[in-house]
Amino acid sequence: MSHAPGKSDDTLYAAPGNPGIADHAQLVTLDAADHSAVLAFCEDHVIGLVVVGPEQPLVAGLADDLRKSGVAVFGPSKAAAQLEGSKAFTKQLCERAGIPTAAYREVETVADGKAALDEMGAAPYVLKADGLAAGKGVVIAETRAEADAALADMLGGQFGSAGARVVIEAFMAGEEASFFALTDGTTVIPFGTAQDHKRVGDGDTGPNTGGMGAYSPAPVLTGALQAEVMQRIVQPTVDALRAEGTPYSGVLYAGLMLTADGPQLIEYNCRFGDPECQVLMMRLESDLGEAMLACANGMLAEFGEARFAEDFALTVVMAAKGYPGTPEKGGAIVLGPFADGAAETGAKVFHAGTTMDGAALRASGGRVLNVTATGATATEAQSAAYAEVQSIDFPTGFYRTDIGGREVTREVS
Ligand code: ATP
Repeated sequence: MSHAPGKSDDTLYAAPGNPGIADHAQLVTLDAADHSAVLAFCEDHVIGLVVVGPEQPLVAGLADDLRKSGVAVFGPSKAAAQLEGSKAFTKQLCERAGIPTAAYREVETVADGKAALDEMGAAPYVLKADGLAAGKGVVIAETRAEADAALADMLGGQFGSAGARVVIEAFMAGEEASFFALTDGTTVIPFGTAQDHKRVGDGDTGPNTGGMGAYSPAPVLTGALQAEVMQRIVQPTVDALRAEGTPYSGVLYAGLMLTADGPQLIEYNCRFGDPECQVLMMRLESDLGEAMLACANGMLAEFGEARFAEDFALTVVMAAKGYPGTPEKGGAIVLGPFADGAAETGAKVFHAGTTMDGAALRASGGRVLNVTATGATATEAQSAAYAEVQSIDFPTGFYRTDIGGREVTREVS
């Protein structure tokens, strides 16, 4: 695609991007932490909409700095991104707005932490570093000794300033599911459901990861439950933030626990998240660009409802050996013949940590590929995704073999 400086066109840029998105976008090198450089790029290229993907730049206020200069942005302000950036912020907001979530205490000293653990009663104990900790700041302690140790570690600087404050929560039992919504700060529309697999090993064993696979929809979130989540959790959150002068615009990802007392909020993410985004996008029938622009421009009511296919989508993450510890970098990858989505299977391979080395594709991060397929049922989507996985030659990679297993079992029973 060509581009004349100073004139808007339909070019899509990705910063930094990867060899997968390079089929659809021009890759640019931009430091997201350098807000003036990002703004200069936007002005120079007459960018019509900036989509801020990850949480770090949102929490750092990139959306604010771009908006101040008149650039349309999909993604919340620094103040509203505190929903993900600070667990204590979200807990306090839930308390003010009467949003169902686990009872909690915020502590800044070991003595207060121990008193809070005494109050919580029996194990398991849930301890969370307040700030961003790359998905590693939550400990579910099975014993009091483990809880005391985690408390000391967090307050002792294990996560730097992110752990200077610790949230201690009551443990909630139930099945987890994710609910997505788009909002322009006032109007909120549902944007699909998903379930992911956080543990590295089959059968939900081993350490937590950023996610080893996901599927959408999540049938456990019935229509009635989704309506309840909108009414009791998501809409009150958006209303409270607007009323407090920090309206939220962008995508709200609600992590939910479906308890015997109904859905309770575990956490919010202020982005789509990987690999949930991949399964949502495979099913989305509405125009994503229009939806995001409507959020950015406060026109979501005019946009209307988002449409998703009835199909299931399922994604299997192929990671580099060593992940979530130190992943092996540089491993060669040869994709199957149909990885671009033109296959009979309809599978699509989304890239994450990949890089080109001449003509060779190589692993460059922990999670490397998201092998994604659709089907009329979870069972069909699962076999199509794994058929595609089988066609990929990635000797230094690994993947879980049971993504979607719970849903497949439900379908056969
Ligand atoms: P993510 O990487 O998903 O953004 P996070 O590190 O921000 O996660 P949370 O989502 O708050 O942290 O918690 C991580 C996981 O810990 C949850 O997915 C859930 O399995 C478990 N968990 C968190 N809070 C509770 C709770 N109160 N009761 C039971 N389990 C919980």
